[in-house]
Amino acid sequence: MANQCIMCGNTEHVPSTMTHVFTASNGEKVLIDNIPVTECTQCGEQTLSWETTEHIMKIVQAASNRTLNAPRAMPVYEYA
Ligand SMILES: [Zn+2]
Repeated sequence: MANQCIMCGNTEHVPSTMTHVFTASNGEKVLIDNIPVTECTQCGEQTLSWETTEHIMKIVQAASNRTLNAPRAMPVYEYA
């Protein structure tokens, strides 16, 4: 992988995972766990691929549809 870190220019990355809270279009908070990212070995910057970003948007969209009339809570969705 020849990806260059946008923060420090380092080209060495290791695969990692992160947890992040996204806000859906209806304002619903969606926490997604185990998101695959590449992590810079130098500064720790975590980068998501376009594929991953698109996948996350689908999960967030589906989650907001599902929780529209549900009691307010923060469900956890696995990246799958
Ligand atoms: Zn870096």
